[in-house]
Amino acid sequence: MKIHEFQAKAILATHGVPVPRGETITKASEAAAVARRLGTKVVVVKAQIHAGGRGKGGGVKLARNPEDAEKLAKNMLGMTLVTHQTGPEGRKVSRVLVEEGLQMQRELYLSVVLDRSSGKPVVMASAAGGMDIEEVAASTPEKIAKVYIEPGVGIVPFQARQLGFAIGLDGAQVNKFVQIVGALYEAYLSTDASLLELNPLVVTASGDLLALDAKMNFDDNALYRHPDIKELRDLAEEDPLEIEASKFSLNYIHLDGNIGCMVNGAGLAMATMDIIKLAGGEPANFLDVGGGANAEQIRNAFKILMSDKNVKAVLINIFGGILRCDVLAQGVIAAVKELGVPVPIVIRMEGTNVDEGKRLLKESGMKLTTADSMDEAAITVVKLAH
Ligand code: GDP
Ligand code: MN
Repeated sequence: MKIHEFQAKAILATHGVPVPRGETITKASEAAAVARRLGTKVVVVKAQIHAGGRGKGGGVKLARNPEDAEKLAKNMLGMTLVTHQTGPEGRKVSRVLVEEGLQMQRELYLSVVLDRSSGKPVVMASAAGGMDIEEVAASTPEKIAKVYIEPGVGIVPFQARQLGFAIGLDGAQVNKFVQIVGALYEAYLSTDASLLELNPLVVTASGDLLALDAKMNFDDNALYRHPDIKELRDLAEEDPLEIEASKFSLNYIHLDGNIGCMVNGAGLAMATMDIIKLAGGEPANFLDVGGGANAEQIRNAFKILMSDKNVKAVLINIFGGILRCDVLAQGVIAAVKELGVPVPIVIRMEGTNVDEGKRLLKESGMKLTTADSMDEAAITVVKLAH
């Protein structure tokens, strides 16, 4: 789960990470008053969306006076912000953060993330923070210093000092940096975060260190332990089809292609997407209806698939284990009766009660194509989608 910058900063502040003062607003008319309360010469107006790259996309602007802040907020609120992380459709801005402007001396990068290959959290820091960290990571990875944390031990101060010196901080700044790294790691652990990133962490003209930007993602499987964090979920930032699917416990991920797929089991779903690509097609989604789906879930899954306007053909690939093939067939028939068959459907099934399933499909009188192998199913559905 993702949260907004202002929410991440509020959490970090409770753990002792210094953040700029600021307030979020949803009406432009409130901006000037906030700017006056902050009282700094410059205030920063920042669009709150679940995507980075806002600076380059026009979602972070400096205002010289309260009237200017109101004007900027007015332009930003309601706009569709397109950044390199939002995709071409962009995100609607319905909230902005108005913050004190800081005089920055340096922009640093600092993050904690789980490194799955070593099975340990890794803390990364770089002197080349700011808006191009992806580029730094790709072309000059040596500019990113890393320390791996032994989970049972936690972060040891010397590791944080090592990072501080590696990114060129002086003695006094390193002390502040060590405190921030410790607080950040503590926040990461205690919230079951999967990613915590400050980009930039700034050194101000007066030598203070502050988190100017904050990104925080959480492990969905641990959310049950954090009802307060769960409440921060912003459904407006999520794909509507994925929200609908989560209501029925369907694992659905929306993709860009035109072949809808309905599969039971994550492994089979991955293999199905692969074989569609191999046959020259592009999957419109990942959808795992689960091993024990019933006819009702199949019907809901089919509805969600068909709500994607890009879908030109559907491949249903089911291995009948706990979910029997005849139950699948009943679900598909019920869904098709309700929704019609706007696009060609190819079904490949195997396993428990497969003959009964095939008989039901055949006797339904519906125009469905059946296939006996995954290869044949993929080639057929790719042809039908053209
Ligand atoms: P992102 O582009 O979505 O990652 O948004 P950020 O919050 O990182 O802001 C982008 C950039 O705006 C930062 O790297 C800074 O260069 C600039 N910026 C943000 N706040 C301030 C500020 O208070 N003062 C100044 N001078 N620049 C700022
Ligand atoms: Mn940033």
